[in-house]
Amino acid sequence: MSERDPILLFGDLSGKTALVTGASGGLGLHFARLLARYGVAVTLAARRKAALDGACAEIADAGGEAQGVALDVTDARSVREALEGRSFDILVNNAGVSGAARAADLSGNEWDQVLDTNLKGVFLVAQAAARRMRASGRGGAIVNIASILGHRVAGGVSAYAASKAGVIQLTKALALEWARDGIRVNALCPGYIETDINRDFFASEPGQQLIRRIPQRRLGRPEELDGALLLLASQAGSYITGSTIEVDGGHLVSSL
Ligand code: NAD
Repeated sequence: MSERDPILLFGDLSGKTALVTGASGGLGLHFARLLARYGVAVTLAARRKAALDGACAEIADAGGEAQGVALDVTDARSVREALEGRSFDILVNNAGVSGAARAADLSGNEWDQVLDTNLKGVFLVAQAAARRMRASGRGGAIVNIASILGHRVAGGVSAYAASKAGVIQLTKALALEWARDGIRVNALCPGYIETDINRDFFASEPGQQLIRRIPQRRLGRPEELDGALLLLASQAGSYITGSTIEVDGGHLVSSL
């Protein structure tokens, strides 16, 4: 059996280390649990470390390895302190905020909050992690969680769409600069994925209307991102860098 055999495809993840930002709930917690199931020692990061205790205990109970760390991705000092003395093979840059408001009503502070979290935050954590990946001599894999709104637009999400478009372009720029250090940088662009936070909205009539515009006529489930995340994080994706993978039920190819 060659090491490229699909059965062994994600086997190299076992024994690796990963940092997942925004991991107290939603997709971040899902990604942390997923990586732990594949034998990755995961560090879950959130602004309040206490919010991670339950998740870390649950991962440990299931036989995984997990620890929590306090990290505000918008704050360079917090990023420095959170990564102090730590080094990771995999970074999942997942922390993000949506900030829905019509452009005419959007305040400067709201704009800053979305851009600082979704774009500057991705840069700060990627930079800190990449410096350590380079120093370790082992390289690594960075997966930035962007969005299909980095490719197309909708009403009321100008700051979010601009930030996610920025993440996609930043991903390519970092991939170019860090390729020779053995660091791969890719973006995962989810479409609309059902999580606790948006479940009520998607049950409403406006939510149902939105679902009718998705070619597959349904929302995605968090586990439907697993294949793309594992591909980008593992040696199965060893020649993939500077790429984006869209997982959206065909939303980006919906008819204009
Ligand atoms: P969520 O709100 O449940 O998760 C976002 C996480 O980021 C939260 O845990 C939050 O505490 C954390 N966070 C926010 N600001 C932070 C900061 N300054 N420092 C550290 N952590 C911070 O939402 P989600 O749906 O799980 O989204 C996760 C990622 O996936 C986001 O980047 C989001 O833009 C992206 N995304 C989600 C969907 C979807 O349909 N759910 C679709 C496309 C992209």
